[in-house]
Amino acid sequence: MPSTSEKTQVSHVSVLGLGMMGSALAAALLRAGHSVTVWNRTSAKTGPLVAQGALPASTVADAVAAAPLVIVCLTTNDDVREALAPADLTGTVLVNLTNGTPAQARDLAAYAHKQGARYIDGGIMAVPQMIATPAAYVLYSGDEQAYEAHEPVLAAFGGTKWVGTDPGRAALHDLALLTSMYGMLIGVTQALALVRSAGVTASEFAGPLHAWVSAMLEGVVPGIAEAVDSGRHLTDVSSLAVNQAAFPNLTATYREQGVSTQLFEPFQKLLDRSIAEGHSADGLSRLVELLDDEG
Ligand code: NDP
Repeated sequence: MPSTSEKTQVSHVSVLGLGMMGSALAAALLRAGHSVTVWNRTSAKTGPLVAQGALPASTVADAVAAAPLVIVCLTTNDDVREALAPADLTGTVLVNLTNGTPAQARDLAAYAHKQGARYIDGGIMAVPQMIATPAAYVLYSGDEQAYEAHEPVLAAFGGTKWVGTDPGRAALHDLALLTSMYGMLIGVTQALALVRSAGVTASEFAGPLHAWVSAMLEGVVPGIAEAVDSGRHLTDVSSLAVNQAAFPNLTATYREQGVSTQLFEPFQKLLDRSIAEGHSADGLSRLVELLDDEG
């Protein structure tokens, strides 16, 4: 295992993968003044980065050998495993920013260690256009010593958030945040389908929708978090009983308007179960525990 002291002055970084995200990461490193070697499976994609000052590598092995810090951003972790296979990782700090599961991150960490490398996993909480702006941040977990040594370089992408030494932790946080995003998008999608069925345009409805979702997030999340952590689910805000009674109005209206109910039926089932199990006076926070049960 390499010592990190020899890596603390890293100013040469290799980036593997120049898709939309990898290209944004490499460009941010260049703008921050680092020397950057780039590799992409389809080599033509190195052109724009080379025009900005990057050095092209024709193989993964060459790119890994070129720099002590290697950033990887491919479509899946299977692609990462496949791409890294021919490379000698000895002495490398590998930062994998590919979206994946916690188990995949742990497997890759074990693989990297076996190859004599240090491993940091990351979850990018931004789209490519946000990279290097104050709105972007990246979650990191894994080898803390390597992270501390290289955090100043990683800061080129935006904010850095360390979440723990379990290599799978960044992916878990990332997927939890994405879960809330997809949940919100399910609601937005259904709401727009519903108003559209009545001749209201999406643009017309976008303002009230945005204001409502923002106000609900701000008003509801802290209370739910407090109830989940304390286990005190009794509420004076909105009981499960009243939600269960109101929810069929949603699905009935979808049917009347010819809009699919498929995205919302599972939530009705969960509400029904909460009442059947005797939680009618509790608030919506109780549902977190019911999902635990379904584990
Ligand atoms: P793109 O589709 O734009 O790029 C995918 C990249 O992966 C390309 O460089 C592609 O190479 C490469 N690749 C795919 N399969 C292989 C393989 N088997 N071997 C070698 N290289 C391979 O995707 P993005 O850049 O948008 O996303 C990359 C990662 O970043 C994903 O895990 C994504 O979830 C994550 N991410 C993306 C965000 C976004 O908004 N775009 C936001 C947050 C995370 P080639 O050019 O040759 O096809």
